[in-house]
Amino acid sequence: MHRIGIDLGGTKTELIVTGENPLDVIEKKRVETERSGYQALLKQLEDLVDSVGNLALENPAVGLGAPGFVDPKTGAVGSSNLRPLSFKPFQDDLQKRLGMPVRVVNDANCFALSEALHGAGKGYGMVLGIILGTGMGGGLVLDGKLWSGSQGIAGEWGHATVNSEGPACYCGRRGCQELYLSGTGIQRMYRERTGSDLGVQQIFEASQEGNDADAVQVMEIFLETFGQALGNLVMSLDPDVIVIGGGVSNLPILYKEGLQRVSAQVFQGRQNIRIVQNQLGDSSGVYGAAAAAGTTV
Ligand SMILES: [Zn+2]
Repeated sequence: MHRIGIDLGGTKTELIVTGENPLDVIEKKRVETERSGYQALLKQLEDLVDSVGNLALENPAVGLGAPGFVDPKTGAVGSSNLRPLSFKPFQDDLQKRLGMPVRVVNDANCFALSEALHGAGKGYGMVLGIILGTGMGGGLVLDGKLWSGSQGIAGEWGHATVNSEGPACYCGRRGCQELYLSGTGIQRMYRERTGSDLGVQQIFEASQEGNDADAVQVMEIFLETFGQALGNLVMSLDPDVIVIGGGVSNLPILYKEGLQRVSAQVFQGRQNIRIVQNQLGDSSGVYGAAAAAGTTV
């Protein structure tokens, strides 16, 4: 079987063609995502898949990672930052157009799947993938299979509340974890205190130098929330490994102080918790999409 993996992003769409192993890339393409409408987007994806038709693919199947939550029964994509998709029967429609099996998966689940099968989570039974980037999302893989939950919302822990009196979130709730743990959240906390816009790395470095009290406070809130959020996940699921992705995953404190804060939140301060950085970087989405090709819910 050949796998076609598509990472459908808000601005860019990437396609890879692989053999049975999703890391064995035969062909790669990248286009600007068609955002003008649903039919136009379907047409673009059809053209993109047609453009690799010359490769004489054997029993090709498509896996597609999409932004937003995916209904496990219908393949419809909701709450997406890609408006044309909103609640359309995307998986069915794409399958009809392409005439081959299509599996649509949440993009954060693609990250978790690729890291579990081929990256930092390889060889572990239960892998939690957590993306701390513009937002916070993730996924859960159990024995090499995605666990997307009965409603398709497993891994949406970015929108679990940690502070019911916290700031309003776009999801309609207040004080979601994402508001403190995402890169955007770290930058917001710093901006609210100082009026200046710094990048996450700069805020982190300022906190380490010690003479910027606001940066120190922001990183302290970040670490404490990280401990609470991941501690709660460990107490609920007791995973074999937690793999962190997204821009914030580059902060070295996650794997030292961050890990200690998590341990402190877990029953009896257990020390044998594994929190590691991802290995596949920005490519994890499209590899995960390819890995999802040919699978069923
Ligand atoms: Zn939220």
